[in-house]
Amino acid sequence: MGVTPQRKDITIEFECQFRVDLQSSDFPSIMKAFLMLLPQLLEDFFQKVLVGFGEYEMGLKKKSFACRCCGNDTEFVWKTRHGKATNILTWFRWIRLKQLQVLCKRCGSKQYITRMLLGMEPKKRVPNETRRKLALMGALTSYRVSAKIGKMFGWAVDKMTIWKSVQQIGAKMDFFLDENEEPRGEADGTGIGITGIPKRGKELKVLVQYKKGGGIRVAGIDIGNYNGSWEKLFQKSLEVIKEFNRPFLLLTDGDTSIFESLKGKVTILIQRCLWHIPYQAQYVLWKDAVKRKSEEWLHVVAELMEICAIRPLVDCPDTIQAMIASKKGRLEKTITFCREKGFTHTVSYLENARGDMFTAVENRLEGKTTSRVERLFRTVNMRVNVSKWSTEGALNVTKVRLAYYYNGFDA
Ligand SMILES: [Zn+2]
Repeated sequence: MGVTPQRKDITIEFECQFRVDLQSSDFPSIMKAFLMLLPQLLEDFFQKVLVGFGEYEMGLKKKSFACRCCGNDTEFVWKTRHGKATNILTWFRWIRLKQLQVLCKRCGSKQYITRMLLGMEPKKRVPNETRRKLALMGALTSYRVSAKIGKMFGWAVDKMTIWKSVQQIGAKMDFFLDENEEPRGEADGTGIGITGIPKRGKELKVLVQYKKGGGIRVAGIDIGNYNGSWEKLFQKSLEVIKEFNRPFLLLTDGDTSIFESLKGKVTILIQRCLWHIPYQAQYVLWKDAVKRKSEEWLHVVAELMEICAIRPLVDCPDTIQAMIASKKGRLEKTITFCREKGFTHTVSYLENARGDMFTAVENRLEGKTTSRVERLFRTVNMRVNVSKWSTEGALNVTKVRLAYYYNGFDA
């Protein structure tokens, strides 16, 4: 990409004359008449501007296009300024433009220059700007509602076109870690409804990264089977993880074996989400048939609540060491208690979690030991729950939606 040369504005004379029959001068009548006028006005305006710029190009010694056959970029003559029609989707509606065609004086071949003037790829009928707007709209609300809102304001784009835009824009979106943001994040998954697969049969996996100024951004998204590998989400970010001058601290509330595949490739410190532990413990206690709010139940839950409560901003390393030692001792006692009582599910749950509970404090990485992905999942579900989806369809709409809410995508 070079520097765009400054060129002076080109003035387009645009006079319009229309004949419209109206029965009344009330507001709805005028709006309705204008909407009838709009396609013609838009087409005429596009046509005039394109011809104006076409004439300007033809007056230049060196054109900003070249002959596709011989590469000549200086000698052309007009073939026609109003040739074969082509359809373009503006964000109001489809318009039909008569194409501008030039003839290469060197080799005699003809070519259309309309899309070059529009800054569009050959043969494309929907400009990127239109696609992005439609995609964002379809990611914010259902396709049916999108089309309905459009229609109310005189916008004639159907549901299928909105759906297709979401698919195209979503498929092209990529997410990875940003080396200029924090070397910290979270990985989490949630069930997602896919047509033809029993209830919540697929898992949406998300990798989020913390931003320096606070807040989160999305650094990886995938939809796959439960307990599937997380490698795919990290694949594009492995090089970035190496760029950080500190190990990457990953907060998760799931089984950490899902990250086995990454070992040896990059240094990732795992921190279990401490906020979740007392809640997940209630579930395993239930599996062990421990009565809710019984003396034993209260003892285990209360102990875990205290063990998992980390006082932030403790700055003295000795204090931190003593604090962790005390918490670890207390955790061991709780595990022993559960073992003696025969709470086997609870024992194995806590044994699995204990290795990754104090990573952040031990490494003196202040701050977050609780999850922020919950809200993000609610944002996803608000859209995904109102339609039926294929895996690809759900993934693409989720990408566009999250890119808008978390990564600065806009149209
Ligand atoms: Zn040529």
